[in-house]
Amino acid sequence: MLKVYNVFLVFGEGLIAVVLFMQKKINNTFLSLKLGDITKETADAIVNAANHTLLGGGGVDGAIHKAGGTQILNECIEIRKRQGGCKTGDAVITTAGRLNARFVIHTVGPKWQGGSFNEDELLASAYKTSLRLAYDNKVETIAFPSISTGAYKFPVARAAEIALKTAAGFLQEYDFKEVRFVLFTDEVLEEYYRTIAGLKD
Ligand code: ADP
Repeated sequence: MLKVYNVFLVFGEGLIAVVLFMQKKINNTFLSLKLGDITKETADAIVNAANHTLLGGGGVDGAIHKAGGTQILNECIEIRKRQGGCKTGDAVITTAGRLNARFVIHTVGPKWQGGSFNEDELLASAYKTSLRLAYDNKVETIAFPSISTGAYKFPVARAAEIALKTAAGFLQEYDFKEVRFVLFTDEVLEEYYRTIAGLKD
């Protein structure tokens, strides 16, 4: 069952902010959606929408490295030395520096190229390999951004469906305490909300 929580915050002169938080239970795991900046989250693992260089970039990648500090980048450089970066659809794990997390899982989503370059499968793979890496590292709570929907221009509605269906599918077999999607804009949150509301119980 999907539960929707409305939190009303009132600031001084009648300015009201409405914070939406949605949660659905899949087997033993809460699948939740919220609006926010993922660098402010507390979780065992925070997922980064990285690029294949693992050397940082713009968007959420830049924000995670900035907030987390150089330890994360240093570990990414070590991984690059060992395996030469990260392929699209794959993921690697580092510690989380100053973030309120034990790990950062760096995954590389596909660039949108019109839809006939395996983008759907590669996006699903980015979520699946991240979840698998988290599970193997005994992660209980994991926070995802909306991978590929910024600079990589994946259509948000299509990405939301892949993200939530892939997570829900994974949770049929594996338990976490919580898999959380932290969405940066109202528009992205709305697409994820529409999709989660349509997921079968
Ligand atoms: P990609 O290259 O995979 O598209 P981006 O970082 O450009 O990665 O965008 C992915 C998503 O992350 C977009 O929806 C963007 O709005 C969002 N985003 C950007 N900064 C943050 C942040 N600090 N916390 C959560 N999401 C963010």
